[in-house]
Amino acid sequence: MANVRLEDIKRRFNNVTAIEDITFEIPDGEFWVLVGPSGCGKSTILRTIAGLETATSGKLYIGDRLVNNIPARQRDVAMVFQNYALYPHMSVAENIGFGLQMRKVDRKIIQERVMNVARSLSLDHLLDRKPKQLSGGQQQRVALGRAIAREPQVFLLDEPLSNLDAQLRDDTRAELKQLHQELGITTIYVTHDQVEAMTLADKIVVLNRGRIQQIGDPQTIYASPSNQMVATFLGSPPMNILPAIYENNAFDVSGQLLTIPAVVKEKLQLRQGHSYDLGIRPEHIFINVDASLRDATRTACRRLPPTSQEANESQLIVEVKVVEPLGRETLIRAGLPGSAVVLNIQVGADVRPRPGDRLSLELDLNQLFVFDPKTGGRIL
Ligand code: ATP
Repeated sequence: MANVRLEDIKRRFNNVTAIEDITFEIPDGEFWVLVGPSGCGKSTILRTIAGLETATSGKLYIGDRLVNNIPARQRDVAMVFQNYALYPHMSVAENIGFGLQMRKVDRKIIQERVMNVARSLSLDHLLDRKPKQLSGGQQQRVALGRAIAREPQVFLLDEPLSNLDAQLRDDTRAELKQLHQELGITTIYVTHDQVEAMTLADKIVVLNRGRIQQIGDPQTIYASPSNQMVATFLGSPPMNILPAIYENNAFDVSGQLLTIPAVVKEKLQLRQGHSYDLGIRPEHIFINVDASLRDATRTACRRLPPTSQEANESQLIVEVKVVEPLGRETLIRAGLPGSAVVLNIQVGADVRPRPGDRLSLELDLNQLFVFDPKTGGRIL
């Protein structure tokens, strides 16, 4: 096992800078997840660690060893790809044992290790099959098995679950987490799926356009994102962004006024007439049952008790566009009248407004984020 350290890694492809300023250190045994939108550089970082790409500049250490000039096969890392990359003509057992065979490990030891790995991944009854005789989930487990059997210092996983259907994906995600708990091997996992990032990671590295946006444990990143990109990337449904203009102690959101609580105002240096992007997570928006213009909600729903005198100035009127019952809860998409802004609102399963209903929303302004619309930087 080993820690992995990247110091100011940069990779250029001709005149395209894929990644730059990439600096972090993954302690031995931790599970780190690299996330970000398509093209942000996740795979390039992983492939650089694997030795499948060469850093244009910067230093890469695995354990105490500087590995920039060490070929991939001597780095003692195992990589699992999205498309499994199994050898089609080999059986499951041969696929799992392949890395060991290449290293000329004794046949008996290979057999034993293949059996142990296959058992731990519930593949022991499939050892004689060829990959095409397996389901997608089984193939992915074989690919994992091949990586585990090599007993590498570091696991590198590039979107390993993205070819699986939803149910299998959830199951395999949980299996992966358990496997890491058992083996404790330093793992670097690439995904654009924020649920995988939140559930698997000891630490998440959020990337955008080849640069690190934030590094932290999932809860810290969710509760305290460093900028608008991070804030809107992590969370499902995502954080709502409301463009607003600050005037006379209030935010004007498409003609509706939100009075800023004193505690919030004290923390901010707001400038009259300036534009701001307000961020509020779906779970911090509540339907104000009494004030809703039609009896759309019928039963009581999660709502804020209006405790302060400012509470009735934290309301927005919206028009329901789409209602999505999800079983445990209902997701509502609603628009601000006269604007293109659409909000995601999460309410109880028994709340079922209809498209076209007008609702009065109450925002928990103590949970408000404020961003600079020009830079995306977080102000509050
Ligand atoms: P995705 O989620 O779509 O797989 P990613 O975050 O893994 O994306 P990378 O594959 O690392 O992103 O690509 C980062 C950037 O580098 C992109 O702009 C991509 O087009 C560019 N890039 C990657 N590999 C090469 C290459 N071999 N030649 C030229 N440009 C490349």
